Amino acid sequence: MKYCKKCLQPDTRPNIFFNDEGVCGACIYEQQKNTTIDWESRKKELESIVKEAKERAVSSNSPYDCVIGVSGGKDSHFQALYAKEKLGLRVLLGNGAPDGITAVGQHNIDNLCSQGFDLISLKPNPVIAKKLAKKAFFDTGNIVAPSEYALWSSAYIIADKFNIPLIIQGENAALTLGISKNSDTSGNALGVLNINTLSGCRADDLCEDGLGKKDLYMYDFPLSNVKEKNIVAIWLQYYAKEWSQIGNADFAVARGLLGRMSENLHDIGRYRRFSALDSDLCIPNQMIKYYKFGFGYATDEVCYDIREGRISREDAVWLVQEYDGKCGERYVDLVCDYLGITKVEFRNTLDKFVNRKLFEKVKGCWIPKFTVGVDFEEDESDIAEDMPQSVHYIKL
Ligand SMILES: [Zn+2]
Repeated sequence: MKYCKKCLQPDTRPNIFFNDEGVCGACIYEQQKNTTIDWESRKKELESIVKEAKERAVSSNSPYDCVIGVSGGKDSHFQALYAKEKLGLRVLLGNGAPDGITAVGQHNIDNLCSQGFDLISLKPNPVIAKKLAKKAFFDTGNIVAPSEYALWSSAYIIADKFNIPLIIQGENAALTLGISKNSDTSGNALGVLNINTLSGCRADDLCEDGLGKKDLYMYDFPLSNVKEKNIVAIWLQYYAKEWSQIGNADFAVARGLLGRMSENLHDIGRYRRFSALDSDLCIPNQMIKYYKFGFGYATDEVCYDIREGRISREDAVWLVQEYDGKCGERYVDLVCDYLGITKVEFRNTLDKFVNRKLFEKVKGCWIPKFTVGVDFEEDESDIAEDMPQSVHYIKL
């Protein structure tokens, strides 16, 4: 495992790009943001997209110029209010509501709507949602992938059904996370199906276990219809220089967003309180990611902070060592209750996904072999190591 020379991005992130100097794609983008990118020309491009959307909405009698898929979080607040107030668009919000939305998540979506928006919330069949989450957990260790997929697809389904000419997406991970291998880094969001979050959980991938395409309608992007109707989809972050994780959080808090204010940071595995607010399943999900790839959500947070000059790489190491991969027991209980599995099943499944090249078991606990921020030579012979199954060995 190698780390970016500027931030703490590890090369274990799937599809991550590093240049010859060992700098990750996200840091390269951050540098371009302040030097070579011609923001003035992007602004003009956005103005022309907005003008065309307004004209097309008039000619097709659409009451809305654009649709924005929202979870209700910080980025949703920024996108929706930017589109309405700064771009002057008539906005329809679309939402693929997760099963078991948190109280904070519900407050936030209500708070956003209360600032003058119509919302269409698509709520996938909870029996199917649970079945998909369970399958995703056992097959890939990613519990929330199907529900994230439903959220993403909601904007496309709504745009198709209501003939809305423009879809505004937020952040292109190809740029902000540096996942630029095989990805489109332009402002066009129709390449959304290539991004990591969505791979492996399209309706076609999920069509089994007694589920047919009709059961999975909410999980299917109507991309051919969208293209046929010439519906445009853009990444707002590509056009808005002010887009930033912390900037969006500040903006949203000022507009009434609530975060995870009462939760222990060690329990939620991060040192900021304004991300992934609508579902608690994302917390154990990040812990599993940590054991799969050697980094969790705190690493993502420090990387944003280093790039934007808020913390040093040295302090970032401290924060990652302190918080990354942590998950309070009550969130594991929540996952087990939701999926209808025992803690033994949870831990055995987690065990299956632990990366043996990066972790070793010491006195029943998985301990990292690597030191955060220090390049680590993995021992390839560890890959085939067949670890014995046991219980109560993950230190939570
Ligand atoms: Zn970097």
